[in-house]
Amino acid sequence: MKRRHFMMTCKEAAQSISRTQDLRLPLSERIGLRMHLLFCASCRQYDRQVRWLHHIFSTVAAPWREARLGDEFKSRLCQQMRRYEAKAGPGEANPEGKRDATDSKSTDQ
Ligand SMILES: [Zn+2]
Repeated sequence: MKRRHFMMTCKEAAQSISRTQDLRLPLSERIGLRMHLLFCASCRQYDRQVRWLHHIFSTVAAPWREARLGDEFKSRLCQQMRRYEAKAGPGEANPEGKRDATDSKSTDQ
């Protein structure tokens, strides 16, 4: 039989704090976490930081989750990449001596 401690450890508390962001903890675990946070300033600070990060990712970053590139932008990006690869060759980072005539003529950058 697994022995239950009155207080959860900081490691257990940290795991519970992380889990609370994704799911609702069982009542006994919630109570254990509350008890731990009552007495442990370090875990209280960690809890605040995790909540803050979760808030940032779920609100501020949310609009970019559904961001999509337009078809025209994608095809232009592919053209640029192909042009760059053709110029630089495999494993070369576009050395000055290999620039060709099309380089100075390109206006769409
Ligand atoms: Zn702690």
